[in-house]
Amino acid sequence: MLTPGHIALGYLVSVSFLKITHADGMFDADTLNVLLLTGSLMGTAPDLDFLPFFIKHRSLKLVQNDSHRSYATHAPLFWLIISLLAYFSFGRTLFAAYLGGIILLGTWSHFLADSFEYGIGWLRPFSQKRYAVWNYPEERTTMRQHILLRHYFEFLKIYVKSRTFPFEIVAVLAAAAVLAT
Ligand SMILES: [Zn+2]
Repeated sequence: MLTPGHIALGYLVSVSFLKITHADGMFDADTLNVLLLTGSLMGTAPDLDFLPFFIKHRSLKLVQNDSHRSYATHAPLFWLIISLLAYFSFGRTLFAAYLGGIILLGTWSHFLADSFEYGIGWLRPFSQKRYAVWNYPEERTTMRQHILLRHYFEFLKIYVKSRTFPFEIVAVLAAAAVLAT
């Protein structure tokens, strides 16, 4: 899933969480918006490990035995710890509790989406095994190296045929529909 889909999913789980817990009765509109924005950004936050990966390899191409998904920010435990830190921050207020919950839901929605095809090491660092619903499309692992824009274009050509792509479309449309109501 690409950044728009991850943000859309982060937004959807945050909206649901705030609705189910009747957060609108506890916070003012500004605070609710801060929580929604945080949750949406958390949906894509684990992919920030693209940056150190890019700096290390000077390439976004798949490098044998190294993937940006093998970095700490793609470990669910990492974000569980961050969300607990948030939960116990700000003098343990109700806002802090919600912040912790939103961080956990947003980032873990990312890992669920990544588990469709790429696979996530849910038990890291205790086990390196990656869990995926479907196998990684084979073409992706044999992509040749191109300059960045060309690489992204080649990636998209394969990505639109992947099984994750329809989920991404649905997530973005659903988020747009919720945002419009
Ligand atoms: Zn990811």
